[in-house]
Amino acid sequence: MEVEASKPAEEFGGEEEFVDYEEEEETVPAESTAKEDADGKPASKGTYVGLHSAGFKDFLLKPELLRAIQDCGFEHPSEVQHECIPKATLGTDVLCQAKSGMGKTAVFTLAVLHQLEPKEGTVSCIVLGHTRELAYQIAREFERFSKYMPDLKVGVIYGGVPLKQDKEMLATSTPHVIVGTPGRVLDLAQKKILDLSHIKFFVLDECDKMLEMTDMRRDVQDIFRTTPHDKQVMMFSATLAKEIRAICKKFMQNPMEVYVDDETKLTLHGLLQYFLKLKEAEKNRKLNDLLDALEFNQVVIFVKNVARCTQLNKLLVECNFPSIAMHARLPQAERIARYKAFKDFKKRILVATDIFGRGIDVERVNIVINYDMSADADSYLHRVGRAGRFGTKGLAISFISSDEDETTLNDVQSRFEVAISELPDAIDVSSYMTA
Ligand code: ADP
Repeated sequence: MEVEASKPAEEFGGEEEFVDYEEEEETVPAESTAKEDADGKPASKGTYVGLHSAGFKDFLLKPELLRAIQDCGFEHPSEVQHECIPKATLGTDVLCQAKSGMGKTAVFTLAVLHQLEPKEGTVSCIVLGHTRELAYQIAREFERFSKYMPDLKVGVIYGGVPLKQDKEMLATSTPHVIVGTPGRVLDLAQKKILDLSHIKFFVLDECDKMLEMTDMRRDVQDIFRTTPHDKQVMMFSATLAKEIRAICKKFMQNPMEVYVDDETKLTLHGLLQYFLKLKEAEKNRKLNDLLDALEFNQVVIFVKNVARCTQLNKLLVECNFPSIAMHARLPQAERIARYKAFKDFKKRILVATDIFGRGIDVERVNIVINYDMSADADSYLHRVGRAGRFGTKGLAISFISSDEDETTLNDVQSRFEVAISELPDAIDVSSYMTA
């Protein structure tokens, strides 16, 4: 990991023309109550050992935060936490790239909670994520860490639920921290239902994803413009191409910049990675065999579109596998219900489109299968990073059935300098499953 010296950045203010984008389908109403199931479950411990013997107490955080950290079972800060938390808690803008599963969420959550003084009726912090499940997950992290801050309220806002519900929540119990997806947040801000004029903290998670899609970027910019000039801006991702960094910095003032310029360092070393060449028609049979043969806590199977997702899940359920599907066409309430069922270990197999490919943290996932290979190397990196969270062991298997798949596989290998070999007939369980 490299930390670059702070550089001055221009204040963001570009007026650009962007094409329209729609947030994913708005359909069935859902309860969006992040509070309801915060459970303070201890985090899993992998083979990862904190590189720094320093503990969280060295960050001089509020005692109520230190207690919550202890309850989470966190012993040592990860490298990225060690690097960023001291500056972030002082209010410095942060642009941070660090590999998947290393605790970037805790960096901004702790930095915000350490500094925030809750004022009744005032939203002080806005966090934006690219999917609703990610927003929901981040809101829960805020709740986990604010366990001993009884006055602090966290709210989650995303499309797919009636606007009325958000309106009521904002009016009756204004959250100090709001986590949301850009479309709905902007809509509420433009309708003057959500007042962002007192924002002190502005956070983007998966920032490259949010800023490279011009439509989402436009929404983020519009939201940004409704917030005060003087605030702390923090942005995070495991992938941060040079072109995107410049865009990120337009939102920031003298940011602390943490990059992983050597992409080979993004490789997750606890993760075994294999490919399997086969014909399209052989995929189902092979998947079935693998699920029978491999030992797993939980598995995520990535497919390329919604139709595949539904069909494959149906097939797995018919074969009596404890599987559920996750894609953007589901009614919102159902989406969060399924996300929770998987996170709470009620289902062991998740068939998902790329909406589950980034940011989502399910600690027991130890196998990722690319039933359909990812479209590019970045998305491969994010997908396989759903296994092997925080240094735990894991296994990633990619089905390669076309020339394009092969190109992506080669690209992954050269960019991240990882040797992905052909799947052997047998794999030692202890190599991909933490005891
Ligand atoms: P990232 O955003 O970098 O991909 P997350 O923030 O989702 O990673 O964190 C990955 C997992 O590691 C989460 O389950 C989180 O609770 C856990 N975690 C984070 N920091 C620590 C720590 N210092 N010690 C133990 N577990 C941690």
